Amino acid sequence: MKIIAGNWKMNLSLEEAIFLSENITSSKKNEIILFPPSLYALKVKEIVSEKNIKVGVQNIFYEDFGAYTGEISCMMVKSSKLDYVLIGHSERRKYFFEDDIIINKKLKSAIKHGLKVILCVGETLEERKIGNHFEVVKNQVLSSIEGIDNFNSIAIAYEPVWAIGTGINAKPEDANEMHKFIKDIVNVKILYGGSVNEKNAYELLSQEYIDGLLIGGASLNYISFNKIIEISENI
Ligand code: PEP
Repeated sequence: MKIIAGNWKMNLSLEEAIFLSENITSSKKNEIILFPPSLYALKVKEIVSEKNIKVGVQNIFYEDFGAYTGEISCMMVKSSKLDYVLIGHSERRKYFFEDDIIINKKLKSAIKHGLKVILCVGETLEERKIGNHFEVVKNQVLSSIEGIDNFNSIAIAYEPVWAIGTGINAKPEDANEMHKFIKDIVNVKILYGGSVNEKNAYELLSQEYIDGLLIGGASLNYISFNKIIEISENI
């Protein structure tokens, strides 16, 4: 079973989110997950639950409740009957200064509350240029999972920062190599993310160690996203 996940980031009006949710097709064999802005998550869940599409949030705070204005917790996500949380996306790391210590706390909170997690890791262009990408990703993975011994509910998304939203995807064989490297550290499903579209999805999904895709831009258009779901059905 492959995982095809759409990260809508901070996009779409409520009406547009409803339209998109209504038009996404279900999969007979793969797991489809949507990460809408959390404000829309319950509405999206209501629309897609009959299609067996899972819904998650793009971020959580690690405390359960309290004086943390503007945050939402895993307890809230669980009690809202949502399925997934995305943790450690590079945009959270870059714009909201999330480091591996924070990410580790978030991961532990998600596991405590029985949520499924997609943990994002990936190197910057500078790190790749100097050949440090394996070391960087290894450190991100190991620090994020420190103190955790049950990986049943975790998947990892390898998202090279230089490939996110740039239109330049990693070469499938390079992504595959990194996925194998990560799988040797922790044996969970590894998704690829970074400029995935309906043109490159087949080659990426055909790689031995690519267990799914985390898709940003192309998940905002139901025609593209449905095509990628269809491609995943035939692999
Ligand atoms: C992402 O947001 O995780 C992502 C991979 O974005 P894009 O597909 O637009 O590169």
